Amino acid sequence: MTDIHDVVVVGAGPAGLALAYDLRDLDLDIQVLEAGTDIGGRTRSVQLAGAAVNTGAMFIYRGTRAETLAKELRQDTVPFHPATYGVHIDGVTSVAGSTPDVVEKLPLPQASKDALVAFMDGLEREYRENVSDGAITGKAAGLGNETVASRLEGLPGPARSVIEAAVRGGSVGDAAQLSAKYALRYLASYIAHEWENRLYPVNGMQDLPRALAANVGSRTTITTGLRVHSIRESEDVLEVTAGDGESRRVLLARHVVMAVPAPQVAGICRQLPGWKHEALKDAETPGSTTVTIAANIEGLPEFADWSFVSTVGKKFDCIINPQPGVRAADGIVRFTCYGNSAGFIPGIEGDEQQIQAWVDDFLTVAPELRGRIVGAAAATWEHCFSVLSPKRNDALPALQRSVGNIHFAGDYTSETAGSHGAYDEARRVAQVLRASLAEPWTELPAGHVATEFSNT
Ligand SMILES: Cc1cc2nc3c(=O)[nH]c(=O)nc-3n(C[C@H](O)[C@H](O)[C@H](O)COP(=O)(O)OP(=O)(O)OC[C@H]3O[C@@H](n4cnc5c(N)ncnc54)[C@H](O)[C@@H]3O)c2cc1C
Repeated sequence: MTDIHDVVVVGAGPAGLALAYDLRDLDLDIQVLEAGTDIGGRTRSVQLAGAAVNTGAMFIYRGTRAETLAKELRQDTVPFHPATYGVHIDGVTSVAGSTPDVVEKLPLPQASKDALVAFMDGLEREYRENVSDGAITGKAAGLGNETVASRLEGLPGPARSVIEAAVRGGSVGDAAQLSAKYALRYLASYIAHEWENRLYPVNGMQDLPRALAANVGSRTTITTGLRVHSIRESEDVLEVTAGDGESRRVLLARHVVMAVPAPQVAGICRQLPGWKHEALKDAETPGSTTVTIAANIEGLPEFADWSFVSTVGKKFDCIINPQPGVRAADGIVRFTCYGNSAGFIPGIEGDEQQIQAWVDDFLTVAPELRGRIVGAAAATWEHCFSVLSPKRNDALPALQRSVGNIHFAGDYTSETAGSHGAYDEARRVAQVLRASLAEPWTELPAGHVATEFSNT
């Protein structure tokens, strides 16, 4: 006979770790299994030119569960204040503090310039109507069922390509899929110079999952390097088969929480009902690649003020400087190039040639920084984050619904994708478990023996 764990959590990203943290006051036996060599999932941070840089998630959004947790766990954060924003198109980079000034310098026909100014002014107006203290209000609910693309109809081609690149860069989604509601949060906030919207964690986004992991209950174990291959229900317990590449083992659990990207769920839980499969398909989660470039900007202070530069026709869709306005003592600024159009590029992380190609592209946007690059790091994500589309909006109740004692948490089960969504969903599932585990548990029927077998 073997132990039956109260909960097995698949994935030690924000959702999986927050779940264990949220249940820390109960004396539960929780096993968090992580396939990778480190915890934190898509919030990974690395050191680049002497400071932490985020290779995936960049900001903690104000007014969300991520901010609450960051405060609770005493994370160091600074507000992100986008005083300027910019556009690069056809060899010209224009960065300024207002839409007319940004658009004026762009090599576009006058009709496109006028359309761009009108569109961006409209977006800023809508932002002010629907956002309060940096958070989207209930007034924006209707925008959840409208795509950004529907807003772009009738725009002249060149103006449209600028907005499409900005939407992709700012929200890691496509205008055709993305709901207008989230364009507000992810794009219009830059135009509105919103500084109540995002916080930058100075020690990196991964610091928060690390802090969660350090504060779980005494009977919680987090194991890295153990991939879950399958889950099946057998006589009221769940059998979780996991392996470390050399051997496999079966763990028994009363509950399982899936805390992995939506496209990975069905491959692990093969017995899900049709409605769950359909819902998971509606949570599209495309790939993305980021390259962070550290540059010495001594004598070029204007680069410190860059916040968000949308780029047309590059390997990436935008460049973000997460600490605009900061004049670092060492003169180094770290710019992250977000490539949603580029998608998932396996192997780029260790491929110097490919990284150099991104750096070269970056230098066509910021030619003044040639000869000043002091480091670059790439990361690629097969499933970047769940696109906030009207389709996914409709699928939300089915995404959240448990299947027996298998529960689903992660950014794809949240109304808002991003780590805050994952943290929210961890809390929702923790409440479900809290209620369920309070009920008496009948002992395991005879015959359940944990298996350990090698070379599979
Ligand atoms: C480029 C990019 C930019 C982003 N920007 C932001 C941002 O600014 N702010 C923000 O809040 N969020 C942002 N996000 C999203 C944020 O990173 C995710 O929403 C969040 O990480 C989701 O957490 P999760 O726990 O659901 O999934 P993940 O972070 O993906 O964690 C899942 C974990 O499960 C593990 N796993 C997968 N399969 C298995 C298996 N079979 N067995 C065991 N373990 C497994 C994975 O290795 C991973 O560690 C961004 C993401 C990317 C990629």
